[in-house]
Amino acid sequence: MKNKPIPYGRQNITEEDIQAVVETLKSDYLTQGPKIMEFEKAFAEYTDSKYAVAVANGTAALHLCALALDVKEGDKVITTPITFAASANCVRYCGGEVVFADIDAETYLLNIDAVRKLLEEAPRGTYKGIIPVDFAGRAVNLEAFKILAKEYNLWIIEDACHAPGGFFSDSENKIQICGNGHFADLAIFSFHPVKHIASGEGGMITTNDEGLYNKLLQLRTHGIVKNDDLYQNSIEFAGGNQKYPGWYMEMQDLGYNYRITDFQAALGSSQLKRADEGLRRRREIAQKYSSEFKDENFIKGQSGVIEGHAYHLYIIEVEDRLGLYNFLREQSIFAQIHYIPCHLMPYYRDFGWKEGDMPKAENYYNHCISLPMYPTLSAEEQDFVISKVKEYYSE
Ligand SMILES: *Cc1c(COP(=O)(O)O)cnc(C)c1O
Repeated sequence: MKNKPIPYGRQNITEEDIQAVVETLKSDYLTQGPKIMEFEKAFAEYTDSKYAVAVANGTAALHLCALALDVKEGDKVITTPITFAASANCVRYCGGEVVFADIDAETYLLNIDAVRKLLEEAPRGTYKGIIPVDFAGRAVNLEAFKILAKEYNLWIIEDACHAPGGFFSDSENKIQICGNGHFADLAIFSFHPVKHIASGEGGMITTNDEGLYNKLLQLRTHGIVKNDDLYQNSIEFAGGNQKYPGWYMEMQDLGYNYRITDFQAALGSSQLKRADEGLRRRREIAQKYSSEFKDENFIKGQSGVIEGHAYHLYIIEVEDRLGLYNFLREQSIFAQIHYIPCHLMPYYRDFGWKEGDMPKAENYYNHCISLPMYPTLSAEEQDFVISKVKEYYSE
C-alpha cells in the first residue's frame, strides 16, 4: 500500500483559522475593511518594524517596493540567482536591469564580496539598489550589506519571503529580526501556502520609513490619495466651497490594485498567532535532519542547525540528485529543487547571462534538493524520509 504523499511544504489550517474566515465573510467588509489593518498591526509587531502594508501577494509586494523606490528604465539592481524569479522580476516590471551576483557556497546567500566587487568595478552611481534574499529561511547579515549600501548610496529591499521569525545577531550581538527595517529600506513577505504563514495568496511589506509607507499605501490602491491636505487640484475645481467635498479624491500616481481581501487578512492574522509554534517545530525538524545526516558521506552540504534560521526549506546537497529525487517520488515523497538559477532562465539568458557566469550558484543547483519541511510533518513521516534517503545511498 502506498503511503500518504509527503510534499516539501504545506499549509496548516486549523478550526480556529476557518472560524476567523467565516466570521469575516459574515461581516460588513469582504475587502478594504478592518481585518487588513489588524493584520498589518500584528505583523509589524511580529517583525519589530514600524509599518506594515498588506498586499495581494509577495510579487505585488516586490513590485510596489520597486515603484516606491522609483526604479526606472535602465536602473541597475543587484540580486542573487538562487531565489524565486519574482525577486529579480520586480526590477524588470519597472524597466530596470537585473545584475546577478554569485552566492556564498556555504550559506547559499548572496555573497557580499561578489556584490562589493561589482560596485568597485563600476563607475560610482551605476547601481541603485540591492535585493538580498533570506533564502531557505536563513537571515542575510543586513548590517554588513547596509554598510556597503551606505558607501555606494544604494537602497536595500530584503526579500524575507522565506524567513518570518528568522533573525541574525549583529556586531553588538543584538538580535535583528527579518523585516525589522533597521538596515533594509523595505522588506517583503509572502503568504502563499508553502510559506510559514498562509492566506491563500497574500503578501506584506514592512518598513520604518514613513514616507515610503505612505507611498506604498497610495500605490496599492491605484495611486489614489484621499487627504484634504495633499490635493493638487483646487477646491473650486473639486466642486466645493471653503473645503473639498466629501466625495473628492485624486489619482496622483500610476498605481495598481494590489489589495488583499479582509477574509485573507483574517486568515493571515489567525495563522500569525501560531507562527512561533510553527517555527519551533520547523527548527526541531531541522535539528533531526541535521543530526541524522551528520556523518553521511553522500552529503556534500546541508542546511544544518543555524541560529535564527527560519527553515522555510531544509536543503541537502548530494551526488546523483536526479536519482534520489526520482527514488523519493516513487515513495510519494515529493522533494523539490530550490532553485533553478534565475540568470539561466530563458528570459534572463536573453539579456546575455550564460552558464559559467555564477559558478557557485550553478554548482549548488547541480546538487541541491529540499526535503519535506513543514510544522505538521509527523515524526513518523520524517523518519520515513530519512530512512529512504539513507536507503538510496546504501545500495
Ligand atoms: C514566494 C516567493 C516570492 C513571491 O511570493 P508570491 O506570494 O508567490 O507572489 C518572492 N520571493 C521569494 C523568495 C519567494 O519565496
